[in-house]
Amino acid sequence: MAVDRLKVLLPLPLPRPYDYLLPEALSGLVAVGDFVVVPLGPREVIGVVWDESASDTPGSDTPGEKLKPIRRRLEAPPLPEISRRFIDWVARYTVSSPGSVLKMAMSVPAALEPPASATAWKAEPPSPTFRLTEPRQRVLALADGVTPLSAAALARQAEVSPMVVRGLVEAGVLLPVSTLASAIASLPRPDPEHPGPLLSLPQRQAADASVASVGNGFAVMVLDGVTGSGKTEVYFEAIAAALRQERQVLVLLPEIALSAQWLGRFETRFGAPPVVWHSDLGAAGRRDTWRAVASGEARVVVGARSALFLPYPNLGLLVVDEEHDGAFKQEEGVIYHARDMAVVRAQLGKIPILLASATPSLETVVNVQAGRYQSLALPNRHAGAVLPEISAVDLRQDSPPRGFWLSPPLVQALEETFAAGEQALLFLNRRGYAPLTLCRACGFRLRCNRCSAWLVEHRGRNRLICHHCGFDRVLPSRCPECLVEDRFTACGPGIERIAEEALHRFPQIRMAVTASDTLTGPRAAAAFVQKVTEREIDLLVGTQIVAKGYHFPMLTLVGVVDADLGLEGGDPRATERTYQLLSQVAGRAGRAERRGRVLLQTYQPEHPVMEALMSGDRDAFLTREAESRRLLSMPPYGRLAAVIISGDEESATDDFCRKLSRLAPHGPGITVLGPAPAALALLRGRHRRRFLVKTERSVNLQAVVRQWLGELSARGGLRVQVDIDPYGFL
Ligand code: ADP
Ligand code: ZN
Repeated sequence: MAVDRLKVLLPLPLPRPYDYLLPEALSGLVAVGDFVVVPLGPREVIGVVWDESASDTPGSDTPGEKLKPIRRRLEAPPLPEISRRFIDWVARYTVSSPGSVLKMAMSVPAALEPPASATAWKAEPPSPTFRLTEPRQRVLALADGVTPLSAAALARQAEVSPMVVRGLVEAGVLLPVSTLASAIASLPRPDPEHPGPLLSLPQRQAADASVASVGNGFAVMVLDGVTGSGKTEVYFEAIAAALRQERQVLVLLPEIALSAQWLGRFETRFGAPPVVWHSDLGAAGRRDTWRAVASGEARVVVGARSALFLPYPNLGLLVVDEEHDGAFKQEEGVIYHARDMAVVRAQLGKIPILLASATPSLETVVNVQAGRYQSLALPNRHAGAVLPEISAVDLRQDSPPRGFWLSPPLVQALEETFAAGEQALLFLNRRGYAPLTLCRACGFRLRCNRCSAWLVEHRGRNRLICHHCGFDRVLPSRCPECLVEDRFTACGPGIERIAEEALHRFPQIRMAVTASDTLTGPRAAAAFVQKVTEREIDLLVGTQIVAKGYHFPMLTLVGVVDADLGLEGGDPRATERTYQLLSQVAGRAGRAERRGRVLLQTYQPEHPVMEALMSGDRDAFLTREAESRRLLSMPPYGRLAAVIISGDEESATDDFCRKLSRLAPHGPGITVLGPAPAALALLRGRHRRRFLVKTERSVNLQAVVRQWLGELSARGGLRVQVDIDPYGFL
C-alpha cells in the first residue's frame, strides 16, 4: 500500500528529518516548507515539512503503518526554499544537526500561531445578484487593499456600522485571511527617495558600484574605508536601490543594542526607522518582527547575528557592517560566524553582499586579493577631517607612579584637552575595578569555584564577579586560606580603577564610565550618546563598547591605557584583533574639524601592531600578518576546527578524550593536536578539554570531523562541541 509520507524537520538536535504520514484530511493541503504540528513521543512539536532530497542521510525505512500522522498545518507563511537550503548548508558546515539550525530560524514559536485577537478579512468577488450598496462598496474597496484589515478597522475606515461588515462576512463576500499581515500593517516604510546627503566623488563611485550590483546576482563587495570616511552613507545608497526594487534588506551590526546613532541616521536618510531584531525585544516584539519579516512586510531589518536566520521571502541585499568584528562569532549552541554565513546566504539567494570595515579581516583581504571579492575603497575621511595622530608612550621610560596607570604624557594630554574644552576617551578593555584580588599575607588569590578564572572586583557594586559564569560574592574580610583579616589587595586596573585615578587627577571633570554592564540596552546607549554629544561629559572611560561606530565631533583625545592587552595568549588572530580594536578606538578621535590624537601606552612600542598603527600602513601590516599565517598554515591558508569535550566529572571527561584520541583522524594534510586542558579548563563546573584539527585547504575538514566524532557517542553528561574556524581559544 502506498502511503503518503513526508519528511518533517524538527527544531531539535536530531540527525535528520523524521518521516510522518500525511492524513487524508490534509491531503493536498500541505506543501514543502509548511509549518506543521506533529507528535513526538508524548509531546506535540512544531516542525517544517522538509524537502525529500535535502538530507544527505538516507530516509528512515520505518514501515508506513508505524508512522504517525501530521496533526495539523499552521497558518503561517511557509519557510522559504532559500531558508531551507541555508539551514542545510549551515548544518553541514558547522557540523551541527539541521534541527539545531532550524531552531535558530524558529526562535519565536508564538509567531507561528495566529494571534487570538484580531482576524483580518479580504474581499471575494460577490455573485452578480449580491446587492452592492454604497457602504458595502466602501468596505469591499478597503478589503481589496494590500493589507488585510480587521472587521473593526474596516468599519472604522469605511465609516460604516459594524453590522455592515458582519453582513458581508455572513454573505461570504469577506473571507478570513491569515492574520499575519494585519499585526504589521502599520509598519512605516523606509522611503528610498527621501533625500540623502550629497556624496563626495569617491563615495559616489563606491555607491554607484554597489547600487549597480543590486538585482544583478551574487557578488561580495568590500567597502574598505578609514573610520569616518562615510561607509554608512555609501551602503545606504545600495539599500535605497534594493528598496526601489521592492526587495528586503538585512544589515548586520555587531552590537545592535547600542546602535542608537546608526538608527537615527537611518531614519534621517529614509524617513522611517528600520525593523530592529535583537535579544532585548520582548516576546510580542519578537513575534511581530518575525511575522513582519516572513510576510515580506519588513523591508529593512537591522540586527545582530541571529537576524540572519529570519525567514526572508524576498531578500535582495545583505550588509555586514564592521565585518571584522569578533561579535559576529556565535560561541554557544550552533557555533558559526555570521559574516561567513551571510556570504553563503547571499550566494544561495543570488544577491549582493556588502562587507564594510576600516580594518577588514585578513580572510576578507585575502579574498579580495584572490579576486573573489570586489573592493570599493574610500581613502579619506569625509569633509576633510583628518585621521588622528597616533603615538606610543613607552611605559619603560614614561612609567606612571606606583599604583597608578596613567603615564605623565597621557596625563598632560588630558589636561590640554580639557583646557581646550574638548573631550577625551580612556580605553581599557577590562570591566570592573581590578582583575585580581590577592591576600598580601599568604598570596592566596580569590577565584571562582566553578571556573578557572579569577574573580573580578566591581567596586561600584561592592561585588567580586566571575566574568565567565556570573558567580558573585562580597569581598571577604578574612582570607579563607591563612585566616588573616583585611589583607586583600586589588591587582591591576579595570575601567573603574582608571576612572578613579582620572577623578583623582582632575576632580572637576564630568565623566562617564561605560562597559557592557553599564550600557545595557538601546535606551541607556541613546542617553549616553546624547550626553556626550551635548557635551555634558568631558571624559569617557570605557571598554570596547565605546570603540564601536560612535561619532563624537568634540572627542579629540584617545588614551589607550594598555595597548598590549590582548597580544598574549594562544590565539593565532591576537595580533590582527588587537590591531583592529585599537584602530577602531583610535578612529573615535578627531572625527570633525578638530584633529585628534591617540596615545598608546605600551611596553613594546616596536611591536608590529604599534608600528602599523603609528605609521598608518595597514597594508604592510596585513601583508606581514598574512605571511606569518601562511608559514604556519593557519587560516585562511589552512583550515581549523576546535573540538571541545566537556563533562561534570574530570576522569570521565579524560577517559572519553583518550578514546577519541585513539580514533583521531590522520592522513595527508591532517593534524590533530590535543587533547589539552582548555584555557578555561573549568567552566560553570564543567571540565573542558580541547582538540584542534588542522588541515590543508584541500581537505574536507567537516567530513573528517563528522566521521571522527560519529564513531563515539558522548554519554553520561559528556558534551562535544565543534567549532569550525575557531576565533575564541578559551
Ligand atoms: P564610517 O562608517 O566610514 O565610519 P560614517 O558613514 O559614519 O563613516 O561617516 C562619518 C560622518 O561623516 C558621519 O557623521 C556622516 O554623517 C558624515 N558624512 C559622511 N559622508 C557624508 C556626506 N556625503 N555628506 C554629509 N555628511 C557625510
Ligand atoms: Zn565562574
